[in-house]
Amino acid sequence: MTITGRTTLVGIIGDPVRHSRSPEMHNAAFDAVGLDWRYLPFHVRASDLPDAVRGLRALGVRGFNVTIPHKESIIPLLDDLDPDTARLGAVNTVVVREGRLTGYNTDMDGFVRSLRDDARFDPSGKRALVIGAGGAARAALFGLAREGASLIVVANRTPSRADNLVKNVKDRFMGVDIRKESLAILGDAKELARFDLVVNASSVGLGGERFPGFAPSAPLVGYDMVYADHPTPFVQTIRSVSGGRAVMGHGMLAAQGEEAFRLWTGIAPPPGLMKRILESHHTDRTLSP
Ligand code: NAP
Repeated sequence: MTITGRTTLVGIIGDPVRHSRSPEMHNAAFDAVGLDWRYLPFHVRASDLPDAVRGLRALGVRGFNVTIPHKESIIPLLDDLDPDTARLGAVNTVVVREGRLTGYNTDMDGFVRSLRDDARFDPSGKRALVIGAGGAARAALFGLAREGASLIVVANRTPSRADNLVKNVKDRFMGVDIRKESLAILGDAKELARFDLVVNASSVGLGGERFPGFAPSAPLVGYDMVYADHPTPFVQTIRSVSGGRAVMGHGMLAAQGEEAFRLWTGIAPPPGLMKRILESHHTDRTLSP
């Protein structure tokens, strides 16, 4: 589609941002519904975030997505927060209305939808281990707590971040059993066997890295929020155990993107289009387990 003087701009800010598949998804959806809109990637370093946000507002963009490492640090730079997003404490979508910036989080619902649809997993009454304590982990924990998981354990490289997260979720969901464990739990097959679900909500795997010592011996359901064209080491490891099944985060990416598109434009993208765009590059044809 040609860019004209009337084209409306949206985009994504992050560091790194080169790996993002969101521009493909959103631009295909704009074309499909006939909107003169374009979605652009912007590489923004942490130290440049305030300038970048001021610049996006001044340039009149209609909104933008927010990814690593800005999901929490952007909050003080916004004018308003949607109430659920304020409780969650991480923003992945900003809507600009008459120059005012409002923050939303579409990751939580995207994760829950994909967990059900792609991993075929109902978290109600189940025991979950979540790796990571950043914005993505926050979305997973709030989603799992809201959906009635019976036990949620958080393991993170920096333990103090896991402590903060556990406290936040406990304050919001009184009845949920939520605790912190050391990341070393991943190397303990007996401990891992206590869980029904393991979620990788860290950035480990983005460059093909693996968790040292991770070797489950009992079947698990795995959800890797990292998404790549080939199965990540985390997904491969879980699938290598008989009965284990695991998916990458393409379904979550598509679901959170559909909701961001709707927040910006007021219309829904064609059903399934964003997921098909993501699947078109995929060597692992079964995004579902
Ligand atoms: P973030 O806020 O920067 O958090 C990164 C997390 O990864 C932190 O918990 C960090 O631990 C941990 N980590 C980084 N390197 C590590 C290492 N070498 N060993 C162990 N832990 C490590 O990022 P985020 O926004 O939460 O995103 C996390 C991942 O989820 C990214 O890969 C992102 O692409 C993915 N994601 C996917 C979707 C989707 O739709 N599929 C949506 C959101 C995010 P420390 O606290 O110790 O630094």
